[in-house]
Amino acid sequence: MALTSQATVSGSYPMQQAVARLAASAEVRAAFEWFNRNEPRLASLQMEVAAIDAPPFGESARAAWLAERFRELGLRDVEIDEAGNVLGQHPGTAGPFISLSAHLDTVFPAGTPLNIRQQGSRLYGPGVSDNGAGIAALLGIAGAIEAAKIPHALPFLFLGNVGEEGEGDLRGMRHVFSTPRWREGIGYSVVVDGAGSDTVVAQALGSRRFEVIVRGPGGHSWSDFGVPNPIIVLARAIEHFSQTPLPLSPKTTFNIGVVRGGTSVNSIPESASMRVDLRSTSMIEIDHLEWALRNALDRAIDWENHAAPPHGGQRQNLVQSEMVGIGNRPAGELNPDARILRAIRAVDAHLNNTAQVQRASTDANIPLSQGREAIALGAGGSGGGAHTLQEWFDCNGRELGLKRILLTMLALAGSGE
Ligand SMILES: [Zn+2]
Repeated sequence: MALTSQATVSGSYPMQQAVARLAASAEVRAAFEWFNRNEPRLASLQMEVAAIDAPPFGESARAAWLAERFRELGLRDVEIDEAGNVLGQHPGTAGPFISLSAHLDTVFPAGTPLNIRQQGSRLYGPGVSDNGAGIAALLGIAGAIEAAKIPHALPFLFLGNVGEEGEGDLRGMRHVFSTPRWREGIGYSVVVDGAGSDTVVAQALGSRRFEVIVRGPGGHSWSDFGVPNPIIVLARAIEHFSQTPLPLSPKTTFNIGVVRGGTSVNSIPESASMRVDLRSTSMIEIDHLEWALRNALDRAIDWENHAAPPHGGQRQNLVQSEMVGIGNRPAGELNPDARILRAIRAVDAHLNNTAQVQRASTDANIPLSQGREAIALGAGGSGGGAHTLQEWFDCNGRELGLKRILLTMLALAGSGE
């Protein structure tokens, strides 16, 4: 996940009282002790899961492992769905589910040497924090709820989902929220992604990505001179597009991150391509940017197809273009008065924890874009080096993250008595 804007959060009174009552209950205190006692077990589960390969579109071994852990913990109706997501339930008395999810996938391609290891309170290795920490948090919360027998009214859905990173394009969450049962059945979503206890992601940064390809006949640089050159067409499109005016608010950005084309210095290329990333906090602005990109490309193609060739002759419609979508993450945000925000604010106030509301691209984009209540939190502890082989997670402070998640879920769920 990647973060941007911020605002500080503060509590609200009735929710505050409910959180204080919950935290004082014997069951919740027993759960907090369980977190403390089981820290070594959680660290070893985290290393175990991080040691299982989970490249994008290759999460099945990790999913099978998690389904086994869910069953061991006593979750009900444990299943792996068609997309490869792992689901397990903890029943309540009535009402919609509160889902607690963590993505299973990593950014690391199959065969990356994982070499997961521990030194003192620190765990090292690719994916150990993002999202080994999130998976460990799911197991910690499910374990504590089962062990302490905490009553709650709304039922809980534990979800290890596929496809959060990069080209996974949120496919796991997209699948869950397109399944009628869960689309209607999940009232609140809490996403756990990476380490930390100092943020609340309540706003979904939207993005749309394209591969733009320009094709022409190609030829010899000397004897075919005058044939349209796709690299020049692409350059012209980039020049038009990069002049598109952008609003400061809602913040909107674009990037051309990859340009490819051609084979040798004395050949007119047959194709050229670029990868473009469009981002905004507003879907309207993303639509507008996409329109500007298509328009810039059409103008460049038109110009080339209708320009007089430098040495005379005909060259109409020799060049074509194509725009292929390679990513689409919807934007969305919570109403500032949403119940889930009031809950996490009250929990943070109770725990004396300072957190900032942030905008990021996470699994919460999917429910947020559907107007549903969702937040993304860290799994506690601290971490660094995400998406590198030097990734680490420090277990100190995991407990704070777990308390935060548990209290938020229980405050949302209401008492089951
Ligand atoms: Zn992540």
